[in-house]
Amino acid sequence: MKPHSSRPKIAVIGAGWAGLSAAVSLVQRADVTLFEAGKQAGGRARTAGGNSGFSFLDNGQHICLGAYRGVLSLLSRIGVSEQEAFHRLPLQWYLHDGMRLQTASLPAPFHILFGILFARNISFNHKIRLLRDMNALKKYHHQPSANTNIAAWLNARRTPRKLVAEFWQPLVWGALNTPLEQAGLNTLCNVLQDGVWADKAGSDYLMPKRDLGSIVARPALAYLQRQGANIRLETRVPPLENLPCGRVKVNGETFDAAILAVAPYHAAALLPAEVPHNLQTAYQQMSYHAITTVYLRYACPVPLPAAMTGLANGTAQWFVSRGAIGLPDNEVAAVISLSDNLGTLKTDEWVNKVHSDLLRICPNIGEPVESKVITEKRATTAAITGRPLPDVRWLQHHRIYPAGDYLHPRYPATLEAAVQSGITAADLCCADLKAVCKTE
Ligand SMILES: Cc1cc2nc3c(=O)[nH]c(=O)nc-3n(C[C@H](O)[C@H](O)[C@H](O)COP(=O)(O)OP(=O)(O)OC[C@H]3O[C@@H](n4cnc5c(N)ncnc54)[C@H](O)[C@@H]3O)c2cc1C
Repeated sequence: MKPHSSRPKIAVIGAGWAGLSAAVSLVQRADVTLFEAGKQAGGRARTAGGNSGFSFLDNGQHICLGAYRGVLSLLSRIGVSEQEAFHRLPLQWYLHDGMRLQTASLPAPFHILFGILFARNISFNHKIRLLRDMNALKKYHHQPSANTNIAAWLNARRTPRKLVAEFWQPLVWGALNTPLEQAGLNTLCNVLQDGVWADKAGSDYLMPKRDLGSIVARPALAYLQRQGANIRLETRVPPLENLPCGRVKVNGETFDAAILAVAPYHAAALLPAEVPHNLQTAYQQMSYHAITTVYLRYACPVPLPAAMTGLANGTAQWFVSRGAIGLPDNEVAAVISLSDNLGTLKTDEWVNKVHSDLLRICPNIGEPVESKVITEKRATTAAITGRPLPDVRWLQHHRIYPAGDYLHPRYPATLEAAVQSGITAADLCCADLKAVCKTE
């Protein structure tokens, strides 16, 4: 690289949370141009248009954890306080038709230990079983080589069906969006290790109080603009080209390097023509699962018993009560993970099913006055057993640094994985460019 200015010129492609995090991390070290195909930033975690009278709608109901350190540090960098963005609640597990627990105000791991010992709607024997399974999983965490799927592990331990139905299945569906028979036990261990066992505050729920665009996308763009970044919305980048000088051609312009922060199903089409066949195939063969969010509004308040009320046996797995987090108490968001399992339902079929579920919990709410159904078919990559990450060294060697939720070595595809991967890609890119500068 023959530097034409003291700062490298870097393209970031994709303004989801991975791309925004990479751009924010780079902007004081490089001249950044951020390309985004859509009209707005945010990617899969974006504000949904046409809010139909709801206080706000996102592309899907998102929930963060206190352990999302990357997300919280991104917020502070772009000038958004946690209190403005999220309502923090201690971890609780409230199934209308099953087990209920509330973490105790004690340091980890006693918060969860006492939470389970004082849980309701679960026998003493089952509490002991749950503690034993958790303990086995904690030990398993130290033997990551012996990977298996969660269903096989539960079968081998003869975990009672009630505990599978009322704890393990909703947990895995919610956290990994992957069926038990495919979901990697290691990934679940990592989530529990960092999100529940490590410290009490890490296990808190962070429930968005506002639309996700106002939490990250818009403040991040404003911050980038203040720092002099070039932002190109509504610009769909064509396939990247490697130039003989080592630089990368992005959308007709030459850059010293590029961060490729698009979802894997879009990345495959952007890889340069010379990319090795096995890498192209690795991208094309990734599998995904859908998530459907059904937003419902009623004429009267919806008296859900918890901020997140679940059903072990329903179409909707979780209902998020907006009233419980200081928002209008007649609005509810229902989450259906793995919604591809239910086939293709029409909008009114989703609404009817979810409304019937809600009537089981709150029988006197009448009919919904407004609804919005959003299905993201490729919401997240499947967190399958032994999930191989694409070997992106060829790309990095050609100064293309992939970032995105699917690339985290320990976590399932989440906002935290996306943000952390953006920072990792940015740091690697800067370190490589520095090394190239020194050798030339
Ligand atoms: C319904 C739903 C619910 C979810 N719930 C949760 C949750 O509760 N908690 C949690 O942590 N995570 C959740 N997730 C996952 C989370 O949303 C994703 O992990 C995260 O948003 C992925 O960010 P990303 O930046 O890696 O990718 P993306 O958000 O997909 O961003 C990629 C960006 O690249 C852009 N792009 C694509 N091609 C091009 C091109 N050629 N040129 C320019 N730009 C391009 C796209 O428009 C997009 O903006 C949920 C996801 C969904 C869909």
